[in-house]
Amino acid sequence: MRTPFIAANWKMNGTRSEVAALLDGFKSGISTESRQVAVFAPFVFLPAVQDALQGTGIAWGGQNAHTADSGAYTGETSLAMLKEFGCQYVLVGHSERRTLFGETDYIVADKVEAALAAGVTPVLCIGETLQEREQGITGEVCRRQLSTVLDQVGVEGFRKLVVAYEPVWAIGTGKTASPEQAQETHAELRAYLAETDADMAAQLQILYGGSMKAANAAELMAQPDIDGGLVGGASLKVDEFTGICNAAA
Ligand code: PGA
Repeated sequence: MRTPFIAANWKMNGTRSEVAALLDGFKSGISTESRQVAVFAPFVFLPAVQDALQGTGIAWGGQNAHTADSGAYTGETSLAMLKEFGCQYVLVGHSERRTLFGETDYIVADKVEAALAAGVTPVLCIGETLQEREQGITGEVCRRQLSTVLDQVGVEGFRKLVVAYEPVWAIGTGKTASPEQAQETHAELRAYLAETDADMAAQLQILYGGSMKAANAAELMAQPDIDGGLVGGASLKVDEFTGICNAAA
């Protein structure tokens, strides 16, 4: 019922030639017939991404955006600018933005609202730290991250966004959540949202992120509440990322 969605998060990686090679590999290796695929590239590479992916089934987006349309915000990039370069999506609230750049739940909610208003689909990232998991408050933390956004954009907003559950302890560490661990949280979050609106919760794509690779993708995505992946490290390798995409059915 929910289309699988696989997204590449390149983070702050790549050179012109590496990006060109990745895009070539993705174009020739990924079938988008029964799945959605998107590439989140550093801003400076978006024109190259647009040139390469235009007319293919693969979409693209920015890794962050400011809420204002334009103005005196040195170093920032607006949603209008992302749209001018064909971005259909924007990542919001990635754990690296939250921890390294001070993005609070409220800043994240404002960004989701601005993206929805601009007609750019937000991929809302949530997830607990290792300490929070060990304290047994994974559900509580993720529910708080979701509810701040839900309070601001409502059920109608949630119908137009994608959620990525990324346990912080699994990001870039090689430690993947087990399929059962990930499924448990995905199901809990969907049930939590269903208390507000069952139909919205049933339609919502919830991606898993955190050390997903070609070797573990099929097993993770076979879980009933895991609708795809947000892929960091493995999206910088053509074989790995095409393998993950082609495992999504
Ligand atoms: P990873 O990153 O796949 O390298 O763990 C995922 C992410 O941060 O989106």
